[in-house]
Amino acid sequence: MAELGPSPLVSGDELPVAEAQARIAGRLQPVAGIERVAVAAAVGRVLAADVVSPIDVPAHDNSAMDGYAFRGADLPAEGRARLAAVEGTVFAGARFDTPVPPGRCVRIMTGAVMPPGLDTVVPIELAKVDAGSVDFAATAVRTGENRRKRGEDLAQGQPALAAGRVLRPADLGLIASLGMAEVAVRRRLKVALFSTGDEVVAPGQPLPEGCIYDSNRFGLIGALQRLGVEVLDLGLVRDDPAALSATIDRAIAEADAVVTSGGVSMGDADYTRDLLAARGEVAFWKVAMRPGRPFAFGPLHGAGGKSAFLFALPGNPVAALVTFYVFVRDGLLKLAGATPHPVPSLTARSAVAIRKRPGRSEYQRGIVERAADGQWSVRLTGAQGAGILRSLTVANALVVLGPQQGSVAEGDAVEVWLFDGLA
Ligand code: AMP
Ligand code: MG
Repeated sequence: MAELGPSPLVSGDELPVAEAQARIAGRLQPVAGIERVAVAAAVGRVLAADVVSPIDVPAHDNSAMDGYAFRGADLPAEGRARLAAVEGTVFAGARFDTPVPPGRCVRIMTGAVMPPGLDTVVPIELAKVDAGSVDFAATAVRTGENRRKRGEDLAQGQPALAAGRVLRPADLGLIASLGMAEVAVRRRLKVALFSTGDEVVAPGQPLPEGCIYDSNRFGLIGALQRLGVEVLDLGLVRDDPAALSATIDRAIAEADAVVTSGGVSMGDADYTRDLLAARGEVAFWKVAMRPGRPFAFGPLHGAGGKSAFLFALPGNPVAALVTFYVFVRDGLLKLAGATPHPVPSLTARSAVAIRKRPGRSEYQRGIVERAADGQWSVRLTGAQGAGILRSLTVANALVVLGPQQGSVAEGDAVEVWLFDGLA
């Protein structure tokens, strides 16, 4: 495909995506509040301090198998081992006080503490038992096999999880394995959200001529909930200075951040700019991206020393969600105290040619699937207009084309952000 030249539309006053992201990150500091929550309620929360193991995990050497425990020193160099078993079985969670002298073995269950001096377990299925003696090939096990060492998962005093981590299911298991019933996390962010526009109508209402339903608020509520923040839904605000003013003041008073869509992001109405200018240092940017050019960000200050960060997103539904993923996600994670972690991405082979001029970043809606050769392949969902919300529901990924990227030929590698992963 012929290369398209740089876009004549990209003017010097457009901000590269990376620059806009850096400016946002530069303004935000993590909220200070910390609370202790039950481990069972901690998934998705941001760890406030390192978790340091107070104990060895496991606390004792124990058997990894059902079998017979013995001393590796009793293994012959070749041939078969034949060890007399002492009376009884070592069960998990139970004391076993019978001494096991050299040259002897004992029946042991998975997870049971290794009796003193014993270091090796032969699995039950590799052993023959007759007349109280256990017989197995000398090559069946090596010294130390089938035994879990004390502290092998985690030694006492060792950092188990670092502050700033967004807790995952396995993390909760690990914290519980240390005997902790609670964990210190950053307080949950509260994020206010509202839509603007005289043409926008709440779902459930009749739709007057020329109007559209408010879809942005619901897409954004879902995205905010997945980020683990508390959402303060302030509904729909008319294109009216008094209404906008009152809603913004409420958001500043009650929330850490405010996410809006439509109108306010354009700063098209003078009163919007004036109203925001009176409350803080909101910058209106034209970001060099598609979809999602108009975007505003900055701190708003209100009565009583309260403040909140405004993320004003474009009104077009696809642009609203794409700008959420590109700017708001990372911004809110930083505000929440989370260590930065990029959106998980993978490289896929484009099944189609994609026309693009260098200059802007583009986020196209894609369908990623495994090709016959086992490699990831991505195709586009079709119409990519910024208002075509269905393109996002049909897609399972965003195709991310960086500013330097020109047209993509069929078969070229492209970066994709998957919408879903392991929960
Ligand atoms: P604006 O940024 O207000 O000029 O809006 C750009 C486009 O997005 C217009 O076509 C609006 O009708 C549409 N729009 C704005 N807000 C919403 C919303 N909450 N839900 C769906 N579409 C919206
Ligand atoms: Mg509007």
